[in-house]
Amino acid sequence: MASRDEVMAALARVAGPDGKTPLPDSGAVSGLTLRDGKVFLAIVVDPDRAKAMEPMRAAAEAAIKAVPGVAGAVVTLTAEAARAVAGGAQGHGHAHTAQTPRAGRAAQPIPGVKHIIAVASGKGGVGKSTVACNLAVGLAKLGLRIGVLDADLFGPSMPRLFGLSAKPDVAADGQKLVPLEAYGVKVMSIGFLIDEGAPVVWRGPMVMSALTQLLREVAWGDLDVLVVDMPPGTGDTQLTMAQNVPLSGAVIVSTPQDLALIDARRGIAMFKQVQVPLIGIVENMSYFLCPHCGGRTDVFSHAGAKREAETLGVPFLGEVPLDIAIRANSDDGRPVVACLADSAHAGAFVEIARRVAETLETGAPGAKPAPRIRFV
Ligand code: ADP
Repeated sequence: MASRDEVMAALARVAGPDGKTPLPDSGAVSGLTLRDGKVFLAIVVDPDRAKAMEPMRAAAEAAIKAVPGVAGAVVTLTAEAARAVAGGAQGHGHAHTAQTPRAGRAAQPIPGVKHIIAVASGKGGVGKSTVACNLAVGLAKLGLRIGVLDADLFGPSMPRLFGLSAKPDVAADGQKLVPLEAYGVKVMSIGFLIDEGAPVVWRGPMVMSALTQLLREVAWGDLDVLVVDMPPGTGDTQLTMAQNVPLSGAVIVSTPQDLALIDARRGIAMFKQVQVPLIGIVENMSYFLCPHCGGRTDVFSHAGAKREAETLGVPFLGEVPLDIAIRANSDDGRPVVACLADSAHAGAFVEIARRVAETLETGAPGAKPAPRIRFV
């Protein structure tokens, strides 16, 4: 098994961000973790130079992989929290360094993965991740082969929602990470790779670099659908991601309040801008189900999302009640679709999953025919 010192010695042969000082002396190495022969390393760089730093990142990864006893290595570029804040970054999607999206998309498909769909919301806290998780488990229940990519680098929630905390293994070829698995779903999240509480602030190009690794350097195997939990919001970063991931379509999660709907509208506009078809809208926290009497209360103006979907000509996929059982079980890593399989909530999610699966089969409105994958 490789030691920390051996890894550092290997990194000494790689020049740090200034192009000459060896990495271990550059002060840029942070968050070196070794576990079972797997090495996870973050290198702190100036966010504005992240793109230029990609060869350094790749060289560091290659150097670590060459150390005897190292089964695999993942090196990511990060911006130090303090520095990024000083630079004015909010962390959430307003990275001015993100590439300006072009019209049209040229994202490469992932061999073996039939469909990739995004679950997105115009703002945080509307239950996007909860819906993404239960939708994925619901799709798996329908007999489909499902993966979940937690692309919410700013606040990964899939480890918690699926009750997963192990570090992923490295595949036999030493190249790819093996996704973790729960409730019949393969899951990959930056949360598995970076210690919780690590002060990581992602900026535009780093987001793309990390996302590309999570997307393409993972042994997904054959999947019918890969569900991508997008970061909340509609900033440049999200737009760039929506453009760079080869999406079959997007599911927008909204609560019924007017405010959330304004945000949802922004989300819809964002996907339209990058020509990603909209599979539909899910109204979460649609109404309140009392756990004591079973009575129903429309806390917000119920069915706002449904009305909005009709106005916008976007399919309405279904509504999920606000219920303590959903919150409590989700926070314990027990998706209600799997753990309260007979409940009305589980039924609602499975119905939403069925609609999504049907849409993928027949093609989302505005979808182009799926690209043919040529095997050589
Ligand atoms: P987002 O991904 O939009 O930020 P989350 O999925 O993390 O939102 O949900 C935010 C909080 O709301 C979590 O504590 C979650 O358990 C809770 N929550 C989500 N949907 C529901 C629901 N339908 N009923 C009750 N609590 C919910």
